[in-house]
Amino acid sequence: MCLVGGRVLGRAGFERADVRIERGRVSSIALDAERRGDVRVPVEGALVLPGLVNAHDHLDLGHLPRLGTPPYPDLRAWGESLHDTWPRLLRSTRRISTAVAAAAALERNARAGVTHVLHHGARAASFHLVAPALCTVEHAAWAHSLDFDAEGLRRAMRGVGEVFVHAAEGDSDRARRELDVYCDRKEEERRRLVLIHACAAGTREEATRLVEAGLRVIACPASTRFLYGATADLPALANAGLLGLGSDAPVSGGTTFLEDLRLAHALGLSAEVLLDVVLDFNARLVGLRSRRDGLRVGMKAHVAVVDAWPPHEASARLTLLGGRPTWSRTSLGRTRASAFWSELGHVARQRTAAEAQRQGALASD
Ligand SMILES: [Zn+2]
Repeated sequence: MCLVGGRVLGRAGFERADVRIERGRVSSIALDAERRGDVRVPVEGALVLPGLVNAHDHLDLGHLPRLGTPPYPDLRAWGESLHDTWPRLLRSTRRISTAVAAAAALERNARAGVTHVLHHGARAASFHLVAPALCTVEHAAWAHSLDFDAEGLRRAMRGVGEVFVHAAEGDSDRARRELDVYCDRKEEERRRLVLIHACAAGTREEATRLVEAGLRVIACPASTRFLYGATADLPALANAGLLGLGSDAPVSGGTTFLEDLRLAHALGLSAEVLLDVVLDFNARLVGLRSRRDGLRVGMKAHVAVVDAWPPHEASARLTLLGGRPTWSRTSLGRTRASAFWSELGHVARQRTAAEAQRQGALASD
């Protein structure tokens, strides 16, 4: 396959080049790299960069629509209104299979040029079983939030690695008080914590407190602006190298990851800083190597092709995972991208059957 006519991200920024892909790896980046027999994918006018890394989503909620009648003051208010208004819907989601929820969530990520996602929530092992290439989750401990999972947070903090937790989520005094709770923790604990949203730190002064405490934050601007009309002060956190970005799930107002990046740009992050966040900070946070230097010959062909950077479309032109299309509105077409998903479904069924057999075997031992 050869992506022809795009501008490719390298060490020196975006430069005009073709990208040839063989056996799932980038085999050449050069002008006129196309060879006879290549599947030719014209990407004129587009930008070609490493697959984007989304640092926050809930893959088990991928099938749920946007729920709520915002604005809410904070997470507690939104959570309570969900359980009051849609109790049956929320109960029924427990019967949705892991594969269905994950496929919906992962396809939505692929549409936005994302090749790797950090899943926040239970069933991480199941998602790994379904789509090991896409989810790098195993190293991380997590808790939902202080409001809904204080015991989970205590348990996670007893470990040694990073702990991901929704925090200071909202624009209320209650949410702001949560900032104190985290800022006042011991230094070795603060170093392990990654706060999701922290949108109560919307002013420079509050964000500076987080920076001084060395607390990392993952912001999901589309979601928190929808639910609470609030976002943390993104430039202050990004300048300190403490900011990651994620999409969150559609249920909380997330749309696509590209929409979050577009919003983050509108809120003051430059094109360069957005690349730092998505290809360096996010990648290292999920345990991958930094992708900030762009595409290189020999690397696995995790690739996003977008119309512009910062993005102004909600979907990418093309997303490749190890050279295989997971999303396409190029000449490669939807059919090729859907082949990936039907194969994933097939693999998931096989793995699940094998796992069931293994557990059955264990049970009868
Ligand atoms: Zn979340």
